[in-house]
Amino acid sequence: MLKHNFSAGPCILPQEVFKKAAAAVLNFNDLSILEISHRSKDFVEVMEKAQNLALEHLDLTDKGYKALFLGGGASMQFLMVAYNLLESKAAYLNTGTWSTKAIKEAKLFGDVIEVASSKDQNFNYIPKGYTVPSDVDYFHFQTNNTIFGTQLKDDPTVSVPMVCDMSSDIFSRKRDFSKYDLIYAGAQKNMGPAGTTLIVVKEDILGKVSRSIPSMLDYQVHISKDSMFNTPPVFPIYVSMLTMEWLKDNGGIEWIEKINNEKAALVYDEIDRNELFEGFVANKEDRSMMNLTFNLVNEDHKDTFNKMWQEAGINGLNGHRSVGGYRASMYNALTLESAQTLVDVMKELERKA
Ligand SMILES: *Cc1c(COP(=O)(O)O)cnc(C)c1O
Repeated sequence: MLKHNFSAGPCILPQEVFKKAAAAVLNFNDLSILEISHRSKDFVEVMEKAQNLALEHLDLTDKGYKALFLGGGASMQFLMVAYNLLESKAAYLNTGTWSTKAIKEAKLFGDVIEVASSKDQNFNYIPKGYTVPSDVDYFHFQTNNTIFGTQLKDDPTVSVPMVCDMSSDIFSRKRDFSKYDLIYAGAQKNMGPAGTTLIVVKEDILGKVSRSIPSMLDYQVHISKDSMFNTPPVFPIYVSMLTMEWLKDNGGIEWIEKINNEKAALVYDEIDRNELFEGFVANKEDRSMMNLTFNLVNEDHKDTFNKMWQEAGINGLNGHRSVGGYRASMYNALTLESAQTLVDVMKELERKA
């Protein structure tokens, strides 16, 4: 029996996608997807489809944006963003580990203004009421904080280019994506296997910094070569394409957002109702619909609870080492049934305790 995979990433993908990907390893137009040339007509079609689907899901087709699938992970974007966009200073919102890492890289290229931070409470809330100066090159933040389980629900309005790391909630809920000038997302959180990162960038924000940029780190170089400046991560891009197709065939973000909301409500309701548990995030409106963080009120139940969820076939529920407790990552492909399985275990613990 396959496990209920609540892992934070690399994460669960639809079974249908695994089956198609497995079949393509054995035979993709009479070759393996692993041995085809990235310059072949068949792969050029995959790349184009993946780029078009990404723009379509974000409702950004024909709006001046280009989609790229690059290597290097979301972490590479921490520095590529600054390399390409930071001339003198940039504003960053600090909501956790990933923001902190992005800020560290940006400081290599210019001044960083931290507009707000939730570090004072171990990042268990989303700062609000901050102002973004109008003379910065861009404003950078994360929509979803994979480790702490917080999520920005509203899209900020600022007068400077808006750059966003959406690695762990891309394609999970509707947003006004046209408010963003550059969006990036590592594939392995909600889109595909590790190995590629989606970048959606509005072309008119590029080419404005005075420094020279190494070719491999230059968005304009990758755009001019249709994301094929060098050998792209062929298989991760193919699998990401399959996942975006799966999403489209089923009704797109609107469809999955309803299911994601149902799953999150099911588990958060239990965290709130069951007296053995408490949520990690301070304000309910900041709770992530993707990564649900919670703790046992009394650590004495730890061994019993751990044994129970493992026996129920649940995988990947331990919290990140910087937070402790538990983290239920419930990305697009996790079913309502898996969420129910977790809730059943929590109820069972209550009966036993
Ligand atoms: C996982 C994660 C990253 C880092 O991604 P890599 O692909 O491992 O570099 C960055 N940002 C967020 C929000 C993440 O969840």
